[in-house]
Amino acid sequence: MFNRILLAIDGSPHAREALKYARDLALLDGAQVILVHAFEQVRTYLGEPQEGQVVARRVASGYEVADDAAKELQDAGLEVVVEVLEGPAADAILRVADVRECDLIVMGSRGHGTVTSLLLGSVSHRVLAHTQTPVMIVRAAGKATG
Ligand code: ATP
Ligand code: MG
Repeated sequence: MFNRILLAIDGSPHAREALKYARDLALLDGAQVILVHAFEQVRTYLGEPQEGQVVARRVASGYEVADDAAKELQDAGLEVVVEVLEGPAADAILRVADVRECDLIVMGSRGHGTVTSLLLGSVSHRVLAHTQTPVMIVRAAGKATG
């Protein structure tokens, strides 16, 4: 049913749970997994002396998050494409889903955010609000919210 599954990860328990669903669905369907991780915008540092360092650090830690997840998927036998992009995260996810013609987006209900009263975080909320692609929202076990 699915050819290209976009998995959005931020390193949170919810996203790790989402990975399991993306992995199992991709294995069932022989689908490719497009792994997306967005690092925080660096725009505020534009032109400042430390800009290069800040960008390099954020890209490197972005790849750490993405590469761990990619390895887990590859070890399961899946074909994985890694996209580490500058945020905002929802824009990066929406853009990749569009450009790569993904037929499913899998993501966590929440992430690292600290406001636990909301059912959905701002990234999952924004993706749901703006995409035509089916979305699977996964919540980590034992976490009613947050
Ligand atoms: P908020 O960020 O609004 O404080 P939150 O962190 O609890 O809330 P979200 O950020 O919306 O919740 O996270 C929901 C899901 O969105 C995550 O489980 C993950 O799948 C995806 N996501 C969040 N941030 C990123 C990111 N930087 N890159 C890729 N995917 C992300
Ligand atoms: Mg978040």
